[in-house]
Amino acid sequence: MSELPTLNLPDGHTRLLLHSCCAPCSGEVMETMVRSGIDFTIFFYNPNIHPRREYDLRKDENQRFADKHGIPVIDADYDMENWFERVKGMEHEPERGVRCTTCFEMRFERTALYAYENGFSLISSSLGISRWKNFRQVTDAGIRAAERYGNVAYWEYNWRKAGGADRMVEISKRENFYQQEYCGCAYSLRDTNLHRLKAGRDVIRIGEMYYGQPTPTE
Ligand code: SF4
Repeated sequence: MSELPTLNLPDGHTRLLLHSCCAPCSGEVMETMVRSGIDFTIFFYNPNIHPRREYDLRKDENQRFADKHGIPVIDADYDMENWFERVKGMEHEPERGVRCTTCFEMRFERTALYAYENGFSLISSSLGISRWKNFRQVTDAGIRAAERYGNVAYWEYNWRKAGGADRMVEISKRENFYQQEYCGCAYSLRDTNLHRLKAGRDVIRIGEMYYGQPTPTE
């Protein structure tokens, strides 16, 4: 595995609230921060994930890995109905479009609110590490969310740097993390399945894929 960098929180901040979307994305982020001696807490708020079984699989995997490292986890609400309400009218937007911006903003606004109410001056997210995401789109949503609260800032660190994207996959395989096959919401599940059917592949079977294990035959 490539060598882990040592990081410092910016601008004199002493602790971080890290929004985490899932174990595969946050595994590398968590290990780097543990190694760097950074004081941080995981904030799991992802009401976009659908259906409930997929949500529980992703959350439980994230909790398991955090427990292994002794990292505190805030398990926020699964307010799915609010998420559907917030993206109403955007059901057919493509990934990386305006629905995704709204989805990021909703998750980061709740993260920033929790930070504000609980004495964290800095937030960030593991979402930006994924090559499927537009790093600038994620980061700008985080900055806008933090700006709503005067004394909360968003840490713009690019977790893909210094081999982070490769280590993310290496750690996922080492830990046999649950491997999600779509971004998370009902619309990304629909669109991924349509794409797979067009390509002559079977639809997604939730709960079957794990990193480092053979792909189930379709
Ligand atoms: S595709 Fe992903 S980022 Fe976009 S709205 Fe759905 S869950 Fe959110």
